Amino acid sequence: MANNPQKVAIVGAGVIGLYLAWQLSLKGHKVSVYEKRPEKDFGDKPCSTLVSERIKDFIPIDDSFIENKIIGCLINFPQKTVRLNFQPIHLVLSRPQLVVKLLELAKTAGAEVFFEKEIKGILQDFDKVIGCDGGLSHIRQALKLPTPRFRLGLQLFERQEDDYNLAETWPIESGFIWRIARGREVEWGILANRQKALPEFRKFLAKKKIDFIMDQLGQPIGLKSAIVPQEMVLPENKNITLCGDAAGLVKPWSGGGLIWGLKAAQILLETFPDFEAYHKKTSQFFAFRIAKGRLADLAVHFLGQNFPSVLPKQITYDNDFPVL
Ligand SMILES: Cc1cc2nc3c(=O)[nH]c(=O)nc-3n(C[C@H](O)[C@H](O)[C@H](O)COP(=O)(O)OP(=O)(O)OC[C@H]3O[C@@H](n4cnc5c(N)ncnc54)[C@H](O)[C@@H]3O)c2cc1C
Repeated sequence: MANNPQKVAIVGAGVIGLYLAWQLSLKGHKVSVYEKRPEKDFGDKPCSTLVSERIKDFIPIDDSFIENKIIGCLINFPQKTVRLNFQPIHLVLSRPQLVVKLLELAKTAGAEVFFEKEIKGILQDFDKVIGCDGGLSHIRQALKLPTPRFRLGLQLFERQEDDYNLAETWPIESGFIWRIARGREVEWGILANRQKALPEFRKFLAKKKIDFIMDQLGQPIGLKSAIVPQEMVLPENKNITLCGDAAGLVKPWSGGGLIWGLKAAQILLETFPDFEAYHKKTSQFFAFRIAKGRLADLAVHFLGQNFPSVLPKQITYDNDFPVL
């Protein structure tokens, strides 16, 4: 039981909100989670859910959630392919199953979860409020914090069985296109500047002769999209905070936010209920990694496009917290 039990509101039942709800409830706090989507499809957010095995340090992963195992990634520059070997290896998970598991853990630990409850302002009557409401966070807006820059992520699925254990990417000007074998299907996606993502994706798919069924407007059927924030934003507030995509905690080179969001959640749990300590420690941990990650990403893209011969054929690295 917590020495100083707090009444906590968590806005957003994504992976980060539910993880915090579960862990804070286990510590004896009284947690209420508010999610705008209905329970039947709250886990449907577009996300490849390709995460390092480090996820197991945070969440128990049943084998049935794992659609494929990925040992590395091929970066296909025009003149050269560079192979990144992931250390630790990555898992392709079913996101709906992952969030259902977290919902069950949170509820069993005592959290109350309210679906179809969209929160637009700051909730009153709580000791602590945590905005885990994603990239477009209303809590961040209510706190009048700056809106981070965004890129757009698009996803499409090809019905084709494939358990190839390497992901593939094709760098483009403002991001990259990816292919991930998911066992029963193949996922194609793009992360790019918001205006350029769809035209670039369509051009690439046509060039590769990947034949998706189009609707009457010429859009591929089943196309999913979501924004990916690009900058860390944390409030200076003792009782209200942000975590996960709401705080822009996303790897600059890949757009992956699950492990970074869980790491920030872990710092929040260690420092709870002191949000000032959480903000300080989180900034200390991530600010340098974000700056380094951006620089490394720019350098690799520049070299890959212009001087590919200087890049090694293979690099083994930690894709969450690389040592540079
Ligand atoms: C196409 C794509 C592919 C990606 N692939 C990967 C990947 O392979 N690996 C990886 O690590 N990351 C990936 N990401 C990023 C990853 O999805 C996010 O970093 C992660 O989902 C963030 O989790 P979160 O819980 O912070 O936010 P979210 O998952 O966005 O959850 C926010 C929740 O808050 C709810 N909500 C929003 N506003 C309100 C409101 N006002 N009131 C109540 N509820 C609200 C939403 O409905 C949602 O359920 C990808 C992103 C995209 C777009």
